Amino acid sequence: MSVATSTTNAASITAEVVIIGAGPCGLFQVFELGLLGISAHVVDSLQHPGGQCAELYPDKPIYDIPAIPVCGAQELVDRLLQQIKPFKPQLHLGHEVVAFTRREDGRFTLATSGGATFDAGAVVIAGGVGSFQPRRIGLEGADGFEGGAIQYRVKNADELAGKRLVIFGGGDSALDWALELLPRAAAVTLVHRRAEFRAAPASVAKMHAQVAAGRMRYVEALPQSLNVADGALRGVNIKTRAGAVESLQADQLLVFFGLHPKLGPIAEWGLALEKKALRVDAEKFQTSLPGVFAVGDINTYPGKKKLILSGFHEAALAAFAIQHHLYPQKKQFLQYTTTSPVMHQRLGVPD
Ligand SMILES: Cc1cc2nc3c(=O)[nH]c(=O)nc-3n(C[C@H](O)[C@H](O)[C@H](O)COP(=O)(O)OP(=O)(O)OC[C@H]3O[C@@H](n4cnc5c(N)ncnc54)[C@H](O)[C@@H]3O)c2cc1C
Repeated sequence: MSVATSTTNAASITAEVVIIGAGPCGLFQVFELGLLGISAHVVDSLQHPGGQCAELYPDKPIYDIPAIPVCGAQELVDRLLQQIKPFKPQLHLGHEVVAFTRREDGRFTLATSGGATFDAGAVVIAGGVGSFQPRRIGLEGADGFEGGAIQYRVKNADELAGKRLVIFGGGDSALDWALELLPRAAAVTLVHRRAEFRAAPASVAKMHAQVAAGRMRYVEALPQSLNVADGALRGVNIKTRAGAVESLQADQLLVFFGLHPKLGPIAEWGLALEKKALRVDAEKFQTSLPGVFAVGDINTYPGKKKLILSGFHEAALAAFAIQHHLYPQKKQFLQYTTTSPVMHQRLGVPD
């Protein structure tokens, strides 16, 4: 898809609006702002847009999107991306927004884990249930190796060539990487806690075939402790289902235990919270800080329902409130996309 993306930005980016979260509600917020002639940058800690729909249930059908009797979750994301295309949003993927301050001039400074900074007139938090973080291996001493000899995602497959790899997990990431890295690695051992896999059956069958051919190992076990000598990782001890402890030599551990959402930095920005959600009014969907709005699963107000449909409605009303926040002198009109020439122009619809 052709929505512009960025992974690193050195200089501060000036934005009318920054949307934190590229889930369905963050994406639809782009659309509602775009109809009003307001541009947006969207930041998400994941490497791909779509939030829970793309991350947790891409292949599941959704039945309660108005006028679409059934729609796959990833299909919904793809359709939203298609719908916002005319507004050319900048997507900053793989960036967690970690710092947020309101400046004296009323604008906002945001900083991301990827080194980008934004100077924004308004902020929409569409952070859902939080930013997705990898489930960690949880072994003593692991902290010191994370990002190095212990990795939760493959940043550069070439760096793993010739290494002895121990890969943990039973989902698609674990199986796909085990098979992909097999021809290049010195050795690959897959460790999974049980015989059933969440990965695609075809990948599981391929893995078993490679094991049967003696090209890789598969062990049903849990990680128990790290083997460290002279400050370097030498391997990992695993506990098999039978209770035996086995020592595996390894240069690199790749851990794919899935992702879990963490409200994370958003909880520390001084915004009023209620049960781990941002308190907003049900007119503007503004948080306790003027200029900062929240839509989708992250917000709460009387009667709130965590549904995509509710988030879409919130995004529509928030857009008008944001327009008023940015341009208080501007008169607001309700225009229909069917008949409004200016909206047609913004949407690229020939009149
Ligand atoms: C299995 C399942 C089935 C579902 N079925 C339905 C259904 O049938 N109908 C329905 O209406 N709803 C359904 N839902 C709920 C629906 O998915 C959510 O309501 C919806 O995803 C909320 O969208 P969102 O944009 O608010 O947040 P999310 O989809 O959670 O997206 C939020 C995004 O914000 C990012 N983020 C958070 N914090 C930061 C940060 N600090 N910096 C950068 N990025 C950040 C996250 O990485 C994430 O990508 C289902 C949910 C699940 C789990």
